[in-house]
Amino acid sequence: MQEPRCESPEEGEVMTEMRRVTAIRNGTVIDHIPSGYAMQVIRILGIDTDRATPVSLVMNVPSDKIGRKDVLKIEDRELDQEDLDRLALIAPAASIAIIRNHAVAEKMKVELADDLLNIARCSFSNCITKNNHEPLPQRMRVVSQDPLEIRCYYCGCGQEIDELIENII
Ligand SMILES: [Zn+2]
Repeated sequence: MQEPRCESPEEGEVMTEMRRVTAIRNGTVIDHIPSGYAMQVIRILGIDTDRATPVSLVMNVPSDKIGRKDVLKIEDRELDQEDLDRLALIAPAASIAIIRNHAVAEKMKVELADDLLNIARCSFSNCITKNNHEPLPQRMRVVSQDPLEIRCYYCGCGQEIDELIENII
């Protein structure tokens, strides 16, 4: 058995969280989710809780970085870039560790893009994107990251985060 090496405080923190949540063999650990948002993350990533994907959830853990946080552990699933783009909507400070064979194989950060293509539908009922005769890609502009302000590219309507989560494609 090899002791895990802690090369940076952040890495040490990831290792601590991995112990806090039962160790997994393969999958993804999502750390630094704002407290109370883990369920939304599960939803936004399209993890079907009726299916066989084991998911562990730790809520309201004290964090130096964001006050309190949630941590998610998803077995046998590795996040791709599209997942990260979605995750950025809810958890812009999230750090992701891909676990392979019980070790951190890859670490990733989320980054909210300026342009969100086919992530969510516009919430405005009269938006041109609702016109079935003229299919357009769903497109949102991130006007501001902090505070988060997202507008439809076509109609300019501001999108509430809860609506966005509802309207995820
Ligand atoms: Zn619109």
